[in-house]
Amino acid sequence: MNAAVKTVCLMGGYFLLFNALVKIFAAAAKVRNFWEEVMDTNQSFISIASDSDFSIHNLPYGIFSIADSSPRAGVAIGEYILDLSLLEQAGLLPTSDTPVFNQDTLNPFIALGKDQWQQTRARLQTLLAKDNAELRDNQSLLEKVLVKQQEARMHLPIHVPSYTDFYSSREHAFNVGSMFRGPENALMPNWSELPVGYNGRASSVVVSGTNLVRPSGQIKSADSNRPVFSACKKLDFELETGFIIGANNALGEPVSIENAHENIFGMVLLNDWSARDIQQWEYVPLGPFNAKTFGSSISPWVVTMLALEPFRCASTKQDPLPLPYLRESRESNYDINLSVAFEVEGEETVICNTNFKYMYWTMAQQLTHHTVSGCNLQIGDLMGSGTISGKDKDSRGSLLELTWNMTEPITLNNGQTRYFIENGDAIIMRGYAQKGEVRVGFGEVRGEILPEHNFNFEAN
Ligand code: CA
Repeated sequence: MNAAVKTVCLMGGYFLLFNALVKIFAAAAKVRNFWEEVMDTNQSFISIASDSDFSIHNLPYGIFSIADSSPRAGVAIGEYILDLSLLEQAGLLPTSDTPVFNQDTLNPFIALGKDQWQQTRARLQTLLAKDNAELRDNQSLLEKVLVKQQEARMHLPIHVPSYTDFYSSREHAFNVGSMFRGPENALMPNWSELPVGYNGRASSVVVSGTNLVRPSGQIKSADSNRPVFSACKKLDFELETGFIIGANNALGEPVSIENAHENIFGMVLLNDWSARDIQQWEYVPLGPFNAKTFGSSISPWVVTMLALEPFRCASTKQDPLPLPYLRESRESNYDINLSVAFEVEGEETVICNTNFKYMYWTMAQQLTHHTVSGCNLQIGDLMGSGTISGKDKDSRGSLLELTWNMTEPITLNNGQTRYFIENGDAIIMRGYAQKGEVRVGFGEVRGEILPEHNFNFEAN
């Protein structure tokens, strides 16, 4: 080897080493940024319990009102809500020149775009930090902008133009498919090629705390030729999360898989209430209709993707490899613990514990597939994950699976049993992500079932 070749080889080696070091330092800087943020903002001057969902790392957005005041935007912090409309009015937020928070939905804020979401989050963390006197020592302003959550009424946080629901948990699809078609034919051939979904009903998306009337409709038993009209007898919940679209895409302009995550503002808990007996008779050939339109409940707090970033984790391995337009190089799942409880006569029984990280199709893949036809998504659109089930028996996210279609009843703490939801029962879903002492939670979504409408057919 002559000297010139040796020099070239050596330089190539140095170049590779240099590149590797740059990558290592970049990765280290990324980790340090997260923990630096933790150290900088670990303590707010507002006292926050260590198991609170609403730490300074979270700052989820919601719409609230107190007494006779009109609804406006706030973020949850510990047991309080920070009134963003007043902070904005006081000139303390990046949005103060173009106010967006004295409104009854978050859509105007979301429409400002990702840079503004980042700036507002950073500014709020600074304002709430223990060593910052700006808000801490302004007693008269502090008294106005801090509202106890207990004293506030929460409203639907988003104007939802459209609601789409997916079916992206392999375990859920396999369980339901096994029940009705046997394990060999449980998954339809399209299931592992695309995130299956349907266009749902946006007008009946309601905020936690809204009680729902038991639906009635056509129900047909296997041993009769015709249906009967009846109140639903197999009323179920579906444990889901939903993501909120943060940017419009124009009609005819799909969002690529590389850019999909940029178009997501945040996530909510979602209970996709389901009338199983109505569904069973109506769903062939066009999918669910009235079985799903009587109410879909979401949590009042929207947890941003910025707050969830530290909890991003590896996606589920997909086999077969999806078509190229759905192939993602980025780790795109999220480690979020989820649970469901029955509340009967004031007593809670937790009946399901699972995790969002088990999902097969990711939110980015759902978004890209939704737009690949050219469909235009709009700011505020709600995208349901589909029922989230895990491998274990107690990680099944619906009563249909937990009772294996009415073959194994659930026993509640008060000794009562349930196959499906009865009138007066409430369902409560909760969710949180945790890393070390850093907790980012969703709070809860709660809904109670009221007796069915009393139809008086004789009068007609
Ligand atoms: Ca669903």
